[in-house]
Amino acid sequence: MASRTEVKKAGCHFCHNNCGLLVHVQDGKVVKVEGNRDHPISSGYICARGTKAPKWLYHPEQLKYPLKRAGKRGEGKWERISWDQALDEIASKLAQLKEDYGAETLMVTEGTYRSDHFWARTRFLNLFGNPQNITCPGIICSMNCYTINLALIGSVNIISDLFNTKCAVLWGGNHVETFLTRWRILRGRIRNKDVKTIVIDPIKTKTAKHADMCLQLRPGTDAALALGWINVIIEENLYDKDFVDKWTHGFNELRERVKAYTPRKVAEITGLTKEEIVESARLYATTKPACIDRGVATDQIGLNATRVEQARVILKAITGNMDVPGGNPVTGPAFKMNGGSFVCDSELELAEKCPPEQRQKQIGADRYKLMTFPGWEILDKYFKKHYGVSHPQHHPLLVSMPLAIRAIIDEKPYPIKAMISWASNPMMWAANTKLVHEALTHPNLELHVVLEYWMTPTAQLADYVLPSASWLERPLCTTFEDWSDLAWAGERSVEPLGERRDDYLFWKELGLRLGQKGYWPWETLEEVAEYRISRLGISYEEFIDRGGLLPEPEFRKYEKTGFSTPTGKVELYSTIFERLGYDPLPYYEEPPESPVRTPELLEQYPLVLTTGIKFMPMFHSEHRQLGIGHREKHPDPLVHIHPETARNHGIKDGDWVYIETARGRIKQKANLTEDIRPDVVASEASWWFPEKQAEAPSLFGALESNSNILTIDDPDLCDPLVGSWCNRGLLCKIYKE
Ligand code: SF4
Repeated sequence: MASRTEVKKAGCHFCHNNCGLLVHVQDGKVVKVEGNRDHPISSGYICARGTKAPKWLYHPEQLKYPLKRAGKRGEGKWERISWDQALDEIASKLAQLKEDYGAETLMVTEGTYRSDHFWARTRFLNLFGNPQNITCPGIICSMNCYTINLALIGSVNIISDLFNTKCAVLWGGNHVETFLTRWRILRGRIRNKDVKTIVIDPIKTKTAKHADMCLQLRPGTDAALALGWINVIIEENLYDKDFVDKWTHGFNELRERVKAYTPRKVAEITGLTKEEIVESARLYATTKPACIDRGVATDQIGLNATRVEQARVILKAITGNMDVPGGNPVTGPAFKMNGGSFVCDSELELAEKCPPEQRQKQIGADRYKLMTFPGWEILDKYFKKHYGVSHPQHHPLLVSMPLAIRAIIDEKPYPIKAMISWASNPMMWAANTKLVHEALTHPNLELHVVLEYWMTPTAQLADYVLPSASWLERPLCTTFEDWSDLAWAGERSVEPLGERRDDYLFWKELGLRLGQKGYWPWETLEEVAEYRISRLGISYEEFIDRGGLLPEPEFRKYEKTGFSTPTGKVELYSTIFERLGYDPLPYYEEPPESPVRTPELLEQYPLVLTTGIKFMPMFHSEHRQLGIGHREKHPDPLVHIHPETARNHGIKDGDWVYIETARGRIKQKANLTEDIRPDVVASEASWWFPEKQAEAPSLFGALESNSNILTIDDPDLCDPLVGSWCNRGLLCKIYKE
């Protein structure tokens, strides 16, 4: 029989870029993946992760069948069961726990954005009566900034127009390694000397080497630098008076606040020179248009994290770079076409189904008020008035992981008896791994379900492990969680391997077993996609063929509609923060642990540690398996150390080195580089070793090189607005193994 080859137009979900890819399928098997040149957003781009997708998909360790624990947690004894048995048993246990402890006893944890149906999880939880007890690394990875944007401008302002900008500030992100599609735009423009770039990072990264200025500040002091820039811009009259007068609220209060952040003072805090601070502020404020393109490093500094983003939003506003070509566009929900709009996530979530008295029980709602129901209800009021649809619940409503973990162990404010980890490996991403391990092995946790592609350290500790379909085995249809007014499409390339299922089916089938009949009308994700585009006047085939829908760019939308905030303006002085009991203006606070805040620790831990270094081709804790080609390129975890510091510690390049903080120690391999400050060391994030022993206590080496053993998760040292914890700016010592 002649073999049959098809080319499917898929949307990659190995990372957030969602590149449009062409997947070559021969006799039902993926044989090759390449970039789709006709894709309106990614225009043919593909990275090493994308090209290796066939090896990833057909790796022998991929999970294909539902598993039920047959021994003790972590013992590695599993029984293969059917989906029906798994779902029946999980539903029955959940029903019993709900009866005994209330619907709030369930916690959902998820990992990095690996599917487009967060709305399905939120819908399930609302129908179950759960107060959105959801936790995820989003709290230290963009979601906190996103929520700050909502409070200050009523929408999202974190996308940059890199095509037209004349000055790009790349703040806390190494674009060459992590923001590949954005780097692709900048790379050519930098080469043509068409754009100035300022990189802000303690490490002179591969990206920084291309920049006009690299500001190597002390980790965790970013808010001080941002406030110093605002000081220079106001004092030197470099701000956009017209925009400030017409479209901002609280300029005089801001002017007073930043008087304390003189270049001299900020130089003392950050370790930069006064000249670097003044020169960079002038470059950003006077090169028009300019944009700030952020990475996630500043989301991970604990106490002061959200104030960095608050100050960055203020910078964009007072320099007149907000919602202008070449600046930072303001985006809202729902692509519109032919008089209709894409069906938003918020329209699918059934928020009204969760009773108000249940909402009040969300863990952390009394403490981190911006990213829980007290904040969401205020933000949503203005959002709805402006955009005509509600804001989705699925992201600004997150529970801080340190509280979730403690609720399992201490049963406060109430018992968390069940957890569903959905494409999530908290043993790797959550701070204070030892406590996470204690929670996941605690008898208080009566039910733990993991949905995954692979057996992971977290999955090893679960009661049920269910195999998930990947982006190659399911379609894509999204507006990126209602963040953007673009719509992405992608085709299912192959049927799921073995008995893998897409996560939509999991939530639907579980819901149907728990009395949610009538609320899950779509049989497949393709049917969901057709529903979501049903108001746009195009067919599903055309949607897939185009790969994405782009609106005509529209700028300065505020001139017609204002901003969706209580004052209708950009709130330099936040009335929403004030209403929630927080300081309405930005300020600088030392990281939870630092040479200034905790000098008593310096003798024992004399170096500043930043964890969470990302590198291609890994993505967070993923792609560690041998046999795909990625680990072969980057086999060991690396800690970056300045040669002078290494010499002082008797460490040579390639030595295994212990990194120790007050919370524990791990080992990584020394990479000596002059690109890092001598007082700073930087460790790579999320290392585990799938080739090592799966069973406890090894758990794939989860406790050997995992930098989250070093991080701080004390709830009192988390950011008070959102509960984000601290991975950067810690104190440590290093020594040879
Ligand atoms: S993994 Fe690579 S190909 Fe896939 S979306 Fe990300 S950048 Fe694009």
